[in-house]
Amino acid sequence: MTTAAITWDELPLRAELRDARPYGAPQLDVPVRLNVNENPYPPPPAVREAMTAAVRRAVADINRYPDREATVLRAKLAGYLGYGLTAGEVWAANGSNEIMIQILQAFGGPGRSVCTFTPSYSMYPEYARDTHTEYLTIPRGPDFTIDQGVALAAIARHQPDIIVIASPNNPTGTVTSLGLVETILRASRGIVVVDEAYQEFATTPSALELLPLSGRLLVTRTMSKAFAFAGGRLGYVAAAPAVVDALRVVRLPYHLSAVTQAVAGAALDHAPALLADVDHLRATRDQTITRLRELGYAVVDSQANFCLFGPFADRHAAWAALAGRGVLIRETGPEPYLRTCVGTDPDMARFFEALAEIQSGERSTS
Ligand SMILES: *Cc1c(COP(=O)(O)O)cnc(C)c1O
Repeated sequence: MTTAAITWDELPLRAELRDARPYGAPQLDVPVRLNVNENPYPPPPAVREAMTAAVRRAVADINRYPDREATVLRAKLAGYLGYGLTAGEVWAANGSNEIMIQILQAFGGPGRSVCTFTPSYSMYPEYARDTHTEYLTIPRGPDFTIDQGVALAAIARHQPDIIVIASPNNPTGTVTSLGLVETILRASRGIVVVDEAYQEFATTPSALELLPLSGRLLVTRTMSKAFAFAGGRLGYVAAAPAVVDALRVVRLPYHLSAVTQAVAGAALDHAPALLADVDHLRATRDQTITRLRELGYAVVDSQANFCLFGPFADRHAAWAALAGRGVLIRETGPEPYLRTCVGTDPDMARFFEALAEIQSGERSTS
């Protein structure tokens, strides 16, 4: 150690970070990893080759800063989304996490508020804290859908500057209908973000359809989940060009590396191959829900690649018992539940085996 001894308590830290801990699920090296909603299938060899060739071309120029505007990549993202979108209506960053913090930097901040429908994604309060934006929550109903009356009353009272609707929602998998998104959009005066991180797994329509209705609507997506590109770090948003201009003001210079732009571009050139397993994962999700219900668990209806199930008398103990059997799921969301994402067929077989073991363990000790 060559740095000076200073403890956390001695740091002249912002007060609101005093009790904070870095976000993140445990990254344990176990055989079955079902905790962070990744696509469990790695890219096929031909796509890996194309990505490697793209990196080789990018590093020939790596002494130069990358294209600040990521124009080629944004055109490919627009083409992938369809709906006649163009590069000027799409913005990209390092994961949709970075997109979200840019949205809060541009449209939130001191004296402003962001509102979400809870339980929802655990990063939302962190974006608010880090941008000094007031964090408001509207509770979802018992089935984790958004109650229109409750939502409209809260919006009328608080007029939040930003409303975020995750659909399908994490950690519940619940979809919000486009009709309700439109109603919320009309009832609010601020920005409405629909976080569609899991849209490719859903059979319900995308909020991209609503973009012509209002320049205040933003639809965020990620390549981390269905696209099998979590390690590549690429998120994006579709919105009016003026919104894209606002995000370009707050982005860090050259935020998206030449390597990221190149690899993501190669991935998009092979979108059908990378998304090839999504149909199977969707079917696996439906089977997982059915099977868990047959085993007597309550399972929330999910349009994502995960499901929330329970109840567990001691969910931490159940989580740890599964982890001890090499099956890592997620201790998140409302108290009696655990969340598992869907993996490969062998992953799911192992998951159900381990679950049966801990179930019989619970019975024999009770
Ligand atoms: C996983 C996830 C994201 C995306 O994260 P990336 O930064 O793109 O990897 C965004 N929103 C929700 C609700 C998520 O679950």
